[in-house]
Amino acid sequence: MASSLTPRSPYQKKENLGSLRRGMGYNAPPRRNVLSAINNGGGANAEPAPSEAGSEAPAFEFSGREDVDRLLSEKMKGKSKNDYKGRTEQMSEYIKRLRACIRWLVELEDGYLAEQEKLRGQIDSDNARHAEFEAQLGGALEELKAANLEMTTRCDSLEESLNKEKADRLIAVESYEKEREERESAEASRDVLTVDLERVTHEAKRFSEQLKMVQDTNKRLQEYNSSLQQYNSNLQADTSKNGEIISKLQREKSAMMEAMTNLKDLNNSMKNQLDSSMSSQKEAIRVKEELRKEVECLRADLQQVREDRDQSVAQLNTLTAELATYSEQARKSSKDSELLRIKAAAFEETCSSQQEQIETLQKQLAVATEKLKHADVTAIEAMTGYESQKETIKDLEERLAYAEFQIIEADKLRKKLHNTILELKGNIRVFCRVRPFLSDTDSNGQEEAIISYPSSVENAGRGIDLMNQGQKCSFSYDKVFDHSASQDDVFVEMSQLVQSALDGYKVCIFAYGQTGSGKTYTMMGKPGRDQKGIIPRSLEQIFKTSQSLESQGWKYCMQASMLEIYNETIRDLLAPGRSSSEMPGGKQYTIKHDSQGNTTVSDLTTTNVFSTADVTSLLEKASHSRYTVDCRTKNLCPIIIF
Ligand code: ADP
Ligand code: MG
Repeated sequence: MASSLTPRSPYQKKENLGSLRRGMGYNAPPRRNVLSAINNGGGANAEPAPSEAGSEAPAFEFSGREDVDRLLSEKMKGKSKNDYKGRTEQMSEYIKRLRACIRWLVELEDGYLAEQEKLRGQIDSDNARHAEFEAQLGGALEELKAANLEMTTRCDSLEESLNKEKADRLIAVESYEKEREERESAEASRDVLTVDLERVTHEAKRFSEQLKMVQDTNKRLQEYNSSLQQYNSNLQADTSKNGEIISKLQREKSAMMEAMTNLKDLNNSMKNQLDSSMSSQKEAIRVKEELRKEVECLRADLQQVREDRDQSVAQLNTLTAELATYSEQARKSSKDSELLRIKAAAFEETCSSQQEQIETLQKQLAVATEKLKHADVTAIEAMTGYESQKETIKDLEERLAYAEFQIIEADKLRKKLHNTILELKGNIRVFCRVRPFLSDTDSNGQEEAIISYPSSVENAGRGIDLMNQGQKCSFSYDKVFDHSASQDDVFVEMSQLVQSALDGYKVCIFAYGQTGSGKTYTMMGKPGRDQKGIIPRSLEQIFKTSQSLESQGWKYCMQASMLEIYNETIRDLLAPGRSSSEMPGGKQYTIKHDSQGNTTVSDLTTTNVFSTADVTSLLEKASHSRYTVDCRTKNLCPIIIF
């Protein structure tokens, strides 16, 4: 812990901001050269106020490191040692250029940082996008693989079912063909049977006609027979009649014989008559015989016709039975053929639906194959994109590394320049702050007249005039904060020192002044946002900057120790379990300076701190351990020096 120690009166206390050391592992920068001439109180060689300097700074152009190096290596030109004014002007000019240079560097750094942030963000987003894309791609590939596998399995099963269906279809087609052949043969046999039936029907018709004709002939023959019988009976009647006539004639012959004698002539004649009658009788017998023969023949014919008829009837019956059988068979075969037709239609329907199914499946397969191809193409494209993105990332990373290198270089330069400015401003600077009058303790009118601020260009913001027993005493500091200066105004000046501490230089701030003059208020402040003092604001800056630098690879390790010097005695404010800060056994704390310019206090409690809250709690703890004197009733001086 670095601390500045000077003897003091009981009413003058020093408040120290614990030194903060960086644990980044790089060599401690060289100690700042003392340009003590700048810190004298006369104000003759004083530099202009920063606000003025800022507004009047001419525009210096820096185009590169050479300009900066040139600026840094610039030497003071031939002014004589005693020409302070000339030297001061030259110095002011130099400071202005340095400021411009720093502004340029800060802008450059901001640019670099912005670019770095942008590049980092871009890389992060690219990485995230790539990771997401990879994950998506992987998922899609997995899905596609699964879909492909599923499709292949489905295809296989479909092919199998297709083959099966084809085989079934072939069997069905075969059976259909067979059935059709059978049906055709049945139809052919049906046609033959129909023709046969027609023929048989025709024959039957013919036979029935023939039968009818035969029956007609038979009827006619019967009629003829009956007429012949009638004729025969007539002939028999005639024969009997002729026999009666013969007997009568014989009797008459006898009578005639008797008369023959008498009638010999008559007898002859009568004999002739008899001969003719005999010949006519013979003729009649012959006719009768012929007729009998003709009847016999007709009877045989009739018998033949009857037999023919019976045969025809039997044939007809057989044919009718055959016809019935054929009809039955035809009906059966038509039924069968109908069934077969239905079956064939069903088969055809099944076949067509299976064909449709096969076509749909083939289409699906084609679509799936197309999809797979498309997915393959997409995957290849994605891989190509991924490769190009990888190359872009590599390029960006190289650019980032180069930018980081440039930032580090620029940061080193900035630190160097910042330190140079601070050295030029003065390694030891003294600021004066005037607190506002407190109504209850200060005697207003009197003291108001005591303090005044010179308005001359030379001393504005740097000088303070005090009236003492009618005599005017003028003082000049590096900066004077009047009673209206806010905590923020004060910290603007201090923040540069905090930055220097963060850059690795040793910094010490202490406040000096009478009790009640506002040391605690300035260093610690009061609760409330705008009331915070130098210590909390410095801590905020330290932690904020260290966090932002962590992204550049810096690692900060903070340690804090707090001590109080009261009545020439060092008191450890963070010593555990002790309200008093004296060492056990009455041992004294000693201040040590090593060869590298480090100042440490032996046996002081050192605590690691990681956040503002840690330090706040330490400050709270330290404030309880502090030795306090209540001087509120005193008439207080409103000025502190720090
Ligand atoms: P010291 O620590 O020097 O003894 P303090 O910081 O305790 O003095 O200040 C004494 C009183 O003056 C406190 O009530 C404080 O709030 C007040 N005070 C000091 N400086 C200022 C200021 N700049 N503005 C307003 N009040 C102030
Ligand atoms: Mg105090």
